[in-house]
Amino acid sequence: MTLDPLQGFKDYLPPDAGARSQLRSRWRAIARRAGFTELESPSVERLELFQVKSGEEIAKELFSFPDKGGRPVTLVAETTPQLARAFVERAKAEPLPVKWFTSARLWRYEEPQAGRTREFGQLNLDILGAPPPLPEVELLLTAARILDESGAEGLYDLRVNDRELAEGLGKSLGATDLGAFFRALDRSPKSGREAFERDLAGAGLSPEAIERLEADLATFGSGVPAPEAAAVLDGWLARGLPEPGPAGVARLKRIFELLDRTSLRDRVLLDLRIVRGFAYYTSSVFEAFDKKGEFRALLGGGRYDHLVELFGGPPTPACGLAIGDQTLERVLRANDAWPVGEPPVDTYVVAVTPAEQAVAFEVAETLRAQGISADLDLMGRPLSRQLKEAHRRQARRAILVGAKELARGTLLERDLTTGEQREILRSAPDGRGAHGVPPAPA
Ligand code: AMP
Repeated sequence: MTLDPLQGFKDYLPPDAGARSQLRSRWRAIARRAGFTELESPSVERLELFQVKSGEEIAKELFSFPDKGGRPVTLVAETTPQLARAFVERAKAEPLPVKWFTSARLWRYEEPQAGRTREFGQLNLDILGAPPPLPEVELLLTAARILDESGAEGLYDLRVNDRELAEGLGKSLGATDLGAFFRALDRSPKSGREAFERDLAGAGLSPEAIERLEADLATFGSGVPAPEAAAVLDGWLARGLPEPGPAGVARLKRIFELLDRTSLRDRVLLDLRIVRGFAYYTSSVFEAFDKKGEFRALLGGGRYDHLVELFGGPPTPACGLAIGDQTLERVLRANDAWPVGEPPVDTYVVAVTPAEQAVAFEVAETLRAQGISADLDLMGRPLSRQLKEAHRRQARRAILVGAKELARGTLLERDLTTGEQREILRSAPDGRGAHGVPPAPA
């Protein structure tokens, strides 16, 4: 028998768990700073919620099972359907646009690999009620801030496309199965030339059309920088793009025009290959990848203008994205940017003899109440071992609680880097009242 975590799951031990929760707190704070408010939903749902609203890809990966009453339920694989449901409940009361974020654990029954786990965390940012292109810009700016302030600044590019443009391109190339055409594009960075050509043929493209697309991808495939996007899009339009391609071009041009005047100018690219797996995306789609292209997507998202209606709500334009914790961790680690999880304790309080134990607790508690981290011995160790432990813990200082000093209303503060000692007032163990206290007589 093994009691190990299940395949695709893991324990996060200190200090990594601390690093992860610090990052999550930072993400939440940045979302709030950008005017998003938090939404929290269940971790287990009716199976139908995801079978009906998410499309095939997710339906295949659901971590689902019958509950004890025999009802088909599933662990939550993505939060967008829950958000749509919550929005419908609130639709009449909420002034628009609604800007919501969720920070959730999610479960997908995928084949575990490096960076692909069965349990992972996602921060979702969604804007409901506003048409393109302003929500797209706001989401990308906020996501970039989150990645930057997590330590990934300079390590990634944002990639943007539009499904209606992709649809127009597909039709212009004679695609008869648009779903297959999208999947071929989506897989193209990984699939290799032969498989890509096979996928495209399966989508109905002739050998000449495949050649034309490959020529375009050779020129634009790795992404068009924001300042050049408008000219490239106009070029496609001039070739006579079938419907609904032109609407996609117009939207993308406005998005890139705005982004070109933000800090994202140098790190946002128009990328033909981005189409995304979810069925509900209607137009804009985005992903972010590390610059070296070593890892899977850091984030994914897009516009889903019909989902709220599918849930019985009013027609509501909507757009969102999700940042995953696993890839970000891998990118940060690969670049020595993974944060220190648990900072060392500031003060280690030492009871010189067991008689001073109660005061040691009092000192630690006073410091903690002031927001200063403090720890103390719980093993009944002698003085020397307590000091050793204070060093091992890399505390900045030790406060020694001894009978002689207590009689004078003081404590002994030892700087653990320099070894210097001074007396401080027992009533102010943070050291603020220390001035003028004479050093202890030897
Ligand atoms: P998605 O929800 O598929 O659009 O993906 C959004 C983010 O979640 C991306 O950063 C993905 O890398 C991440 N993600 C999706 N599935 C997994 C998984 N099974 N394990 C780890 N990260 C994932």
